[in-house]
Amino acid sequence: MAEDTKYKLLRQRLVEQLRQKYPFDERVLAAIAKIPRQIFVATGLERLAYEDRPLPIAAQQTISQPYTVAMQSHLLEVKKWDKVLEIGTGCGYQAAVLVELGAKVYSIERQKELYEQARKTLWDLHYQLSLFHGDGYAGKLIFAPFQKIIVTCGAPSVPQALLEQLAVGGRMVIPVGSNGQTMQVIDRLSETEYRTTSHGKYSFVPMLEGTAEK
Ligand code: SAH
Repeated sequence: MAEDTKYKLLRQRLVEQLRQKYPFDERVLAAIAKIPRQIFVATGLERLAYEDRPLPIAAQQTISQPYTVAMQSHLLEVKKWDKVLEIGTGCGYQAAVLVELGAKVYSIERQKELYEQARKTLWDLHYQLSLFHGDGYAGKLIFAPFQKIIVTCGAPSVPQALLEQLAVGGRMVIPVGSNGQTMQVIDRLSETEYRTTSHGKYSFVPMLEGTAEK
């Protein structure tokens, strides 16, 4: 069987598994059905790319489990043309899902090596988005406000800059906690009011301050 057909079938099987686990937004599942996850995982792990589990990428980081990517994308309720800020580009897979959902994506990664790899992977796949090497704690003020903010690393607490850069009427999806995280959805109701709801327990790599050159 041709490689492409094999991966397409594996993707369909993964999407079916996700659909059984939770009634995800079908647009999110359509994005997952389309994106070649095997290209984002580390070399040698391609055969595991469509298992519903996290996998190692470079710099001791991980690509989130497909279930987690689906849940964060679902909770984010992305609309076409939403300006979305992602903290923690990693290998770029979640960013690709956001582009498929029609968002204008800005994504920040603190590890130089990952930033460069993600840039190449996404470029090769013709995804158009803005990637930055930097510290997500600062957000990206020059492009603010964002209709949506998604944090894909475990934040000990919600960074103030991100709250400020969220548009009124906007939504942030962020795993909060140091030892295991609770998925929080934060809606900005007005200039001064936010409403937070909790959506289950997860385990993310930590959100760290500053940048790393490696
Ligand atoms: N969204 C990614 C998940 C990567 S894991 C994917 O689809 O693969 C989380 C990433 O967050 C790691 O790459 C880590 O280096 C990055 N990270 C941690 N703290 C950060 C910070 N302060 N700013 C930006 N990125 C950060």
